[in-house]
Amino acid sequence: MSDKGWSIAIHGGAGTMAPDRMTEAEQAEYKAALQAALDAGKAVLAGGGSALDAVEATIVILEDDPHFNAGRGAVFTYSGVNELDASIMDGRDRSAGAITGVTHVKNPVKLARAVMEDSPHVFLSREGAEEFAREQGIEIVDPDWFATPHRWRQLEELKAKKLGWFDVDLKYGTVGAVAVDGEGHVAAATSTGGLTGKRWGRIGDSPVIGAGNYADDRACAVSATGAGEYFIRVGVAREICARMRLLGEDAQIAADAVIAEVGDLGGDGGVIVAAPDGGTVFSFNTPGMYRGRANASGLNEVAIFAKE
Ligand code: ASP
Repeated sequence: MSDKGWSIAIHGGAGTMAPDRMTEAEQAEYKAALQAALDAGKAVLAGGGSALDAVEATIVILEDDPHFNAGRGAVFTYSGVNELDASIMDGRDRSAGAITGVTHVKNPVKLARAVMEDSPHVFLSREGAEEFAREQGIEIVDPDWFATPHRWRQLEELKAKKLGWFDVDLKYGTVGAVAVDGEGHVAAATSTGGLTGKRWGRIGDSPVIGAGNYADDRACAVSATGAGEYFIRVGVAREICARMRLLGEDAQIAADAVIAEVGDLGGDGGVIVAAPDGGTVFSFNTPGMYRGRANASGLNEVAIFAKE
């Protein structure tokens, strides 16, 4: 059993959001969107459901919400397509599923789960992943479902200003969830459109098991957001779990140390972590991260800026 009962933490991307760059109404909109996702996960966990079901239910809400860079509202590639990546992992036995570069799958996290549970593989890509989705009866949509005018403008801005890969909108809108259930099992899920203007089949950290997502009952569950290239090089999610498991560090110390490593290399972003004892922590080196957490003892919070 977890000492504190179930708990859950979510993120909707880290970046340079600041109180003077968002109206009160925008802040309220994002907080309501985060709360709706948190509520979906809470309902699963409060009903005795598993951490795995809770993170999936949470991510589905965030993927369907155009505020975030995942599913509907995903960023565009350089050639004007929404290419989606997702991953999910179960801390009980470290089973995992991930997909990259799909363009017709309404909820990429559901496909990642199907890869985990119904295929002999861990990681599928592009047309092959879509073929598997169709075989599994996963919902397929027209690519227009994902496209929003806001993200199209960001692509045009990137092209017009010849911005660097990590500059557009100055934030990362990937979504993630980590949870520990009443039995002390952890799970993590992450979903993203990646980076605006990505080319050449670029894949970030989000669907890479061990980089943007990891779950191990012996340590913790982690979901990341940020400059994916750095998160892959550091192996962020597994590094945090390894520090907790092998060095006995607590979640905050391990997460802060690994985010500091990302920062030392020049990367920015953040993580959410859930430990089997029921603790959840956030760590990020950006001015803000859309985030929220809740637990069985009544904790419920959503926040955007670092100082909140
Ligand atoms: N980590 C994601 C990527 O590099 C981006 C994000 O967090 O928004 O694809």
